[in-house]
This record gives sequence, C-alpha cells and structure tokens, in this order.
Amino acid sequence: GRAPADGRRVVIVGAGLAGCLLATLLGRRGISVVVVERRADPRAAEPERGRSINLAISARGLDALSAVGLREQALSRALPMHGRMVHDAAGGQSFRPYSADGRRAIHSISRAELNRALLDVAASTPGVRLTFGRRLTEVDLVTGNLLFDVGGGQASTTADVVLACDGAFSAARRAVTFRTGFTVSQEYLDHRYKELTIPAKDGDFALDPDALHIWPRGSSMMIALPNLDRSFTCTLFWTSSEFAALTTRDEILAHFRKHYPDVVERAPDLVEDYQRNPIGSLATIRAWPWVHRGTGDAGGPDGGDTGGDDINGENGRDGNGENGHDGNGENGHDGNGENGRGINGGGGRDVGGAILALVGDAAHAIVPFFGQGANCAFEDCVEIDRCLDEAGGDWPAALAAYERRRKANCDAIAEMALDNFVEMRDRVNSRAFRARVAAEHWLERRLPGRYVSRYELVSFTTMPYARIPDRLRRQNRLTALAAAGVGGAAAALAAGALRATSRLPRRP
Ligand code: FAD
Repeated sequence: GRAPADGRRVVIVGAGLAGCLLATLLGRRGISVVVVERRADPRAAEPERGRSINLAISARGLDALSAVGLREQALSRALPMHGRMVHDAAGGQSFRPYSADGRRAIHSISRAELNRALLDVAASTPGVRLTFGRRLTEVDLVTGNLLFDVGGGQASTTADVVLACDGAFSAARRAVTFRTGFTVSQEYLDHRYKELTIPAKDGDFALDPDALHIWPRGSSMMIALPNLDRSFTCTLFWTSSEFAALTTRDEILAHFRKHYPDVVERAPDLVEDYQRNPIGSLATIRAWPWVHRGTGDAGGPDGGDTGGDDINGENGRDGNGENGHDGNGENGHDGNGENGRGINGGGGRDVGGAILALVGDAAHAIVPFFGQGANCAFEDCVEIDRCLDEAGGDWPAALAAYERRRKANCDAIAEMALDNFVEMRDRVNSRAFRARVAAEHWLERRLPGRYVSRYELVSFTTMPYARIPDRLRRQNRLTALAAAGVGGAAAALAAGALRATSRLPRRP
C-alpha cells in the first residue's frame, strides 16, 4: 500500500536528472522534500545559445520517466536513432541497426531540456520545494546539519534523510569519505573528451538524423548525436596528450582531414570549437556503502568511528540477516530495525542522527560508452520509491534495500560501459564484429525473445543489469556456432539449448 510519510525531514541535494525525478516520486508519495541545487534555476535563465548537449535515453530511462508522466513528452522532444552509422576514414558510411527487427531505437534528447522538464514536474508536485544557488559544503550526520555556500555567504539546514543526487563529484559523498568502512575509488580513463558541432546545413541535418554516428579510429573515436535544431553534437574521445599536441588551425585541420574527412566539410566552426571547448574527463566511480548514518550518542562529531558500527547495524552487510536480507521484510517494520543489534545503544530511532544515501552518479558514475548513466540513475530513483513503498515508509529499511538491490546492477553496467568503449572505437569496424552482429540478429529473428544481444538487453529491456552477463554467456556459445556458418543446425541447437536453460523472462 501507499506509504505515509513518517515525519522525517527529507533533503535532496542536486536538482539534476536524478534529484528532480526522485523529488517528484517522493512528493507523489506524500513525502515533503526540499531540493537544494548549486546552480541558478535553469528555467529562469536565458535559453542557452550555442552548444546543445544531448544524451541518449533508452528503455530504462523511458520507463522511469513514465512513472512521472514524462515519457510521451520526452519522446516528442527526442530524435530516435535506430542504429549506428559507422564512418570509415575514407568518408564512407554504413548503417547497422541496433535490433534484429530494425525497429528499436534509442533517443537523443537535449540534456538541458530534459532537466528543465523534470524541474517543471517536480516544481508542480505538492510537497516538493526547489531551492537554487545553494551549494552543499558540509554534512554532519550526527546532528543532521547541512551547510551551504550561498553566493559567498553561508546557510544551514537540518535533515533526517539526505539523498545525495549531486553527481559524480558529489559533495555529500566527500562528507562521508573518511568514515570507517567507506570505500570509494575513482578510476580515470586516459581518454578525455571534447564536444564539437556539426550545424544544420541549408536548414537540414548534415547527416542522417536516425542514427548514432561513430567514427571508430582505434586509439580515438568520435560519435555524433542529432539535436532537434538539426545540428549534431559530436564528442571526440582522445587522450589528453593527443588533444594537447594539436593546437594550431593548420594542425587541427590536417588531422581532421586525414581521419575525419566527412566531418571537416560539415563543421565550419571545427577549429574554433576545438580550440575553445573544454576537455572533459571520464571516470568510473565506485563507492560502498551508499547508505550512511550518524549516531547521536556515540563517537565524536566527526562521525568517523561511529560510522563503522552503523554500517553493519543498519544494513547487516555482514550477512547476519538481522534485517531480513533475503529480500522479504528486510525492513524492521517496527520502526527500529535500523538499530539492528542495538549497537548505538541509544534506543530511540531518531537518536541515530541523519541517514544519507548516495544516488545516481554520486553513488556510481560510469563512462558514457553505453549511454546508460542517466538511465541507470533514473532506475535508482524508481527503486528507492519502490523500496519505500515496500517498507511502509520506513526510511532506513527502504534505503538498506535500495543499496542492496542496486549495487550489483550498477557494478554490472559500469563494466559493460567500459567494455563498450573498446567495441565502439575498435571492434565495430572489424569483420569479426560485423559477422557477430549479423549472427546475433539472425539468431534473434529465429528465436525472438530467447536470443537477445547485449546491446538490446541493456538498451531495450529493463532486465536488471546484473543478470545480463550471465545470460550472455549462455548465448555466446550459440553465436559462435552461428557465426561459423553452421546455419540451420545452429538454429536447431540454439532453440533446444535455450529452451533447456530458459528460466529467463521474455523480452517485454
Ligand atoms: P547530475 O546530472 O550530474 O546532477 C547533479 C546535480 O547536482 C547538478 O544539477 C549539480 O549542479 C548539482 N550539484 C552538484 N554539486 C552540488 C552541491 N555541492 N550542492 C548542490 N547541488 C550540487 N547518460 C545516459 O543515460 N545517456 C547518455 O547518452 C549519456 N551520455 C553522456 C555523455 C557524457 C560525455 C557524460 C560525461 C555523461 C553521459 N551520460 C549519459 C551520463 C549522465 O550524464 C549522468 O549519468 C547523469 O547526468 C547522472 O545524473 P545525476 O542526477 O546523478 O547527476
């Protein structure tokens, strides 16, 4: 049933993609929430001129958006991309559909516009209060005090529940970094990225808008996604030393003429873009646990050593199951389940100070090569909402369930995203890769719903990410046979084998 609010004061840090969606979901649940965002309200600012930055939204993101009634609006402002358009170094193009039936698409959407739409929905949700121009600087989980930088001055507020949706370089995560038992790592790629623009040509798209364009070049790679204004945003992935080695107009043009000849002729501002636009970095950030509690009666204000106790107390990660880790009633319905074995000795539920959960990129930033970071962050929000529902509104129980259910899934997509970089910049162009994709699509047509490629499982289903690698291992044997040209025999075998092992749900 619907969970009533339990009176805790809930603060969401960050009004980005995850923060806005989560605020809306909570508001709809009858929970009052304050959202604190560092930037000014982007809806009030002049619409940005110049670069439009887009992102690909697929089944998982759309599923989450439909939970707040935004799916159709998002789709109406997005451009479907039904496949990859691979550009070779001679300027030739070849199209590879993403799905066997050629009908499935991922959707290119303006990041700013999606954020504004989510802000609008959040702002119109009863119980949600958005505040801007406040940058979180400190969190004290013992007192529940949050400090903000407000245009040079300081402001503070208190919270019982802090939902950290403040992105890959989360200030909230920084605030718990030195707690005992907290592990965090950031793994940077040598590759960085720079955004470039292919503008509309004579009022029309200069490339096919129904594709995600890829220029695989081995050590470097460029991609381009279409925008509604008929431009394309290109992202060039390259190492920082290589970026730095190219500075003058002549060097830049010579390089692009050699490796990206069809881009040079379509990008009149290429040199200016290249020289002016910043270089972004790419990291996988892993953190654990995602949920932290202060305790009111133990330890010092640093929360350091109290943290270690908490970690086991609230979530029983050691597997001793005081919170029912088998997934059926992990939540301590009596409302003090979070005290677990009574470590804090304080007894009452609110003696435990505030509880903080990392959400979205703050918990698990991933590299962008599968186009899943936002999709995955949205899934987090939906999972928190679901866990709250199941836990009857009990925050500690709900957040414990959230991190337990999501961790393996987020780890899985982080790995797949890293792996997809190799596929995109290299393998996509190889004969073997093309043979594999052709074989996969052939199997998919022969075995609809039973044989599904990794790309499709990630992008076109909502199967938990963590189940995908296992499913693929079983399928791979079959692909090998089919790619070897065994044809009908492979199909028969595949059908039998998959039937035998098929405990898997059909593709939705
Ligand atoms: P963010 O969107 O980063 O939002 C964080 C919010 O918190 C921001 O509004 C920020 O201003 C605010 N904030 C930060 N610090 C503070 C503070 N101290 N106090 C208050 N507020 C604060 N994902 C996809 O699904 N598909 C794609 O195609 C895709 N392409 C990508 C391409 C690139 C080059 C990159 C870098 C990422 C891409 N992603 C993509 C990933 C996606 O951008 C992120 O996963 C997504 O934005 C995460 O959402 P979030 O709400 O967790 O964080």
